[in-house]
Amino acid sequence: MRWTTRIAAAALVAVLQACATPPAHTPPPPPAMANEARPPVTILISIDGFRSDYLQRGVTPNLARLAAQGITGPMRPSFPSKTFPNHWTLVTGLVPDHHGIVGNRMEDAAHPGQTFTTASDAPYWWNAAPPIWVEAERAGIRTGTVFWPGANVAWGSTVTKADHGDYAGGARPRDWLQYNQAINGTQRVDTVLDWLRRPAAADRPRFVTLYFDRVDVVGHDYGPNSPEVAQAAAQVDAQIGALVDGLAALHQPANLVLVSDHGMSETSDTRVIPLDLPKDSYHLIEAGPFAALTPLPGKEALVEGTLLGRHPHMECWRKAEIPARFRFGSNPRIPAILCLAEPRWMIVEKLPDAPFTRGEHGYDNRSADMAALFIAAGPAFRHGTVPAFDNVDVAPLLRDLLGLPPGRGLDGDDAPFRSLLQPR
Ligand SMILES: [Zn+2]
Repeated sequence: MRWTTRIAAAALVAVLQACATPPAHTPPPPPAMANEARPPVTILISIDGFRSDYLQRGVTPNLARLAAQGITGPMRPSFPSKTFPNHWTLVTGLVPDHHGIVGNRMEDAAHPGQTFTTASDAPYWWNAAPPIWVEAERAGIRTGTVFWPGANVAWGSTVTKADHGDYAGGARPRDWLQYNQAINGTQRVDTVLDWLRRPAAADRPRFVTLYFDRVDVVGHDYGPNSPEVAQAAAQVDAQIGALVDGLAALHQPANLVLVSDHGMSETSDTRVIPLDLPKDSYHLIEAGPFAALTPLPGKEALVEGTLLGRHPHMECWRKAEIPARFRFGSNPRIPAILCLAEPRWMIVEKLPDAPFTRGEHGYDNRSADMAALFIAAGPAFRHGTVPAFDNVDVAPLLRDLLGLPPGRGLDGDDAPFRSLLQPR
C-alpha cells in the first residue's frame, strides 16, 4: 500500500466514524444548502393596521425579540392615514400627494367616469412613481411579492383597450401573486420560504414583500382595544416566528423590515359628525375619519360657507389651504374640500341606526392613534431605538439594504437609520 492510499483509507475511516456518530445537538444542514454562503434577503413585512402600541400588549413575543435584537421606534404614517396611500409611500419614498395614490377611493379628471378603489389595477393610477421592486429588478435584483397594494399592477404599462384590462409593457416583481384574502398568513409565509428554498441561487428573490391583513380587519370590526385584536396580533406574531425559524433552517440570513401602514382609533355611534349639507349640493368621494368632496356647480358658496373652518371635533379646508404639515393638497386627484375629524370621531352622511364600537383610520397622521409599527432586524442592523420618524424614510432605508443608489427627488431619506446600520 502506497502512503497516499494509506492516508486516503484513514481519511475514509474517519469520515465513516463521523457519519456513524453525529453529534446530537447540531443537525447537519440540508444537503443542497451545505457549505453555501447565502447573501442576505431583504424582507419587507406589513402588518396592516398594527398600531405601534400593540407591541406593548405582551402578546407578540416574536416581534418583541426582533425589536430587542434590532431597531424599533414609532413611525408616523403619511396623510391620509389610509392603507393604499401608505403602502405606496412605503415602497416609493413619496408622500401620497406626490405619488398619486391620495386615497383608498379617488377620481381623476384625466380619466372621467373612472373611480379608483382598492381593487383597481389600471396602471395610470400608479404610474407616477416606481415602487422599489421595479427599481430593484432594473438593477438586476430578483424580487418577489406575497401581496402588497400595487404589486399586481404592471407598473409603467399603458392601456391598450380602454376599460377592458388590456395593458402593454410594464414591470412586475419576478414572482408575485394576485391578491387573495383567502390565502392565510401561514400560506403566505410558506410561499416566501418556498421561493428561498429553490436550489439555484439565481432563482431565489433577494427582495421580498409579505403582507398580513388580519389585524386591520379585526381592528375595524371590533375596535383597537378588543380581545379580538390581541388575538389577531398574537396569530400574526406566530406566523412571523415561523418565518424566522424557516429562514434559520435554510441558513438564510435576512434583513427583516416590519412595518404597518397606520394605527387604529376606536369609533362609536356616540361620536359622529353629520355632514350638514343638502344632498344636491356636493359630490362625495369618501367620508369617515375625513370627508373629501367637491361642491356641485353653483353650490360652491353654500358648501364653503357651511363647512370651511373649525367645528366641534372637525376642521375643513379648501385643498390649497390644508396646513403644510399634512403635505397634502396639490395633487389633481384631491377634491376641492377636505374635512378632517378628530381621532375617534366619524364624519357621516347619515346618522347610524344601531349602536356600534368599531375601529377606523385616516386621521391626522401625527395623532398617537395612527402611530405605526416599525422594527428592523438582521445582519445590517445594530441594536437601538430610532426616534419617531416619517414613513417616507423607509424606501430610502430599503435602497441602502439592497445596495441601490439614493433615490432622486424623494420626500424622505435614510437619516433616521444611518447611525444604526452596521458598516458595510
Ligand atoms: Zn391599512
